[in-house]
Amino acid sequence: MPPTRNINDVPKDTTMMTRAQIIRWLEMSAEMFKEKKAYLTELDSAVGDADHGINMARGFTKVEEKLPTFSDTDIGNILKSTGMTLISSVGGASGPLYGTFFMRAAGAVTSKEELSAEDVVNLFEKGLEGLVQRGRAEVGEKTMIDAMVPAVDAMKAAQANGADIPAVVQAGVQAAEKGVESTIPLVAKKGRASYLGERSAGHQDPGATSTFYLLSTLAEAIKSE
Ligand code: ADP
Ligand code: MG
Repeated sequence: MPPTRNINDVPKDTTMMTRAQIIRWLEMSAEMFKEKKAYLTELDSAVGDADHGINMARGFTKVEEKLPTFSDTDIGNILKSTGMTLISSVGGASGPLYGTFFMRAAGAVTSKEELSAEDVVNLFEKGLEGLVQRGRAEVGEKTMIDAMVPAVDAMKAAQANGADIPAVVQAGVQAAEKGVESTIPLVAKKGRASYLGERSAGHQDPGATSTFYLLSTLAEAIKSE
């Protein structure tokens, strides 16, 4: 008798990101933001209006609820629908910002059923472009941009060096984590935290933190699916 093989023993193709992995990312993000809701809200209570965790949990819970209506479409459409759902369900600054990120990211992968490492990098690059156009923030202004810019740079560099998708995403996670730490001493120049002026220094930015969580959840999702 040939040895029985568990389905989990089949090596994953690490050169492709599948639709199932994207769907898993969104589902896992909904669970993750429910778990991190109190923590992100606590971070926002120091520099903002104590709702970032609530906003992210609400937005991604809505995405999770609506997923069955668009999960059998292509990746571009899945990301576009995610963006539209975030924009329509989150009142805070983060809803339109992340919503724009996903809608613009969608434009980089229109009609695709699976993504190469290059596609994944393009997706994040275009999403970041949308974020910057919408929020007009630069690195060093204590926003989600402080996590997203180094993450996208690191992903681009990893992909250019021939890294497979898990390694590309992992490079992004590590850079985002450093980016989050970099926000602590910064004085906020954008968003509600900027109303605090110098008093915003010494606190970790909530939005940079949620960007790091989104990336680390993507890393988890591609491992599990
Ligand atoms: P609100 O500030 O409306 O209460 P949230 O609390 O959900 O919205 O989100 C706050 C986060 O949004 C901040 O921690 C910051 O990272 C991010 N943010 C705010 N303004 C901008 C901007 N102009 N560009 C990029 N990110 C921003
Ligand atoms: Mg807030």
